[in-house]
Amino acid sequence: MGNPLRQRRTAAELASSGQVIEITEEISSFDRLSEIVEADLVALDADKIPSAWRESRVQGELKFGFVAAAGSMPAVSGQAAVELDAVCQRCLEPFRLRLEIAVRLLLVGKETLANEFDDYEIWELDEETLRPQDIVEELLIMAMPFSATHENMADCKAFSSSVESATDMKRPFAALGAQMKQVAKDPDA
Ligand SMILES: [Zn+2]
Repeated sequence: MGNPLRQRRTAAELASSGQVIEITEEISSFDRLSEIVEADLVALDADKIPSAWRESRVQGELKFGFVAAAGSMPAVSGQAAVELDAVCQRCLEPFRLRLEIAVRLLLVGKETLANEFDDYEIWELDEETLRPQDIVEELLIMAMPFSATHENMADCKAFSSSVESATDMKRPFAALGAQMKQVAKDPDA
């Protein structure tokens, strides 16, 4: 028994067997996703690259079945999430980026005309068979932000350094306050 996530089958086979696939896979088994994460992390100094970045785990579930769109069409629904190592584009420090995807797709061949139906989007199949993992990988890649940054400003060094400069900003006022006290004491100055 191989991993059903990586077995190539037709959409009709997956749907008619009502295949349910539990996903718990390290990102190292997602080639393109790993490449993207690695290309991002090389921006870091070698000692800052999280050593276990390939072990981040994609977890979720896919369910195949038929939906009533245009007669009866194979479809897949489910969800998946992963926490990846990424580089914050504001402070250039590594951080954990959470990606979540919702899967709700009609699996249609190129010749099939289909419209989106009941919140299902169209997933056009290039080939007769599909590998469920490819769907998860594609959706995760599409969910990656164009510019990943710390979600919480308190965690981001770019903001903590701006807090420091805000503190610096107070000093001129303190100096000005001291000058004014001086003026008050000595109005002729
Ligand atoms: Zn940051």
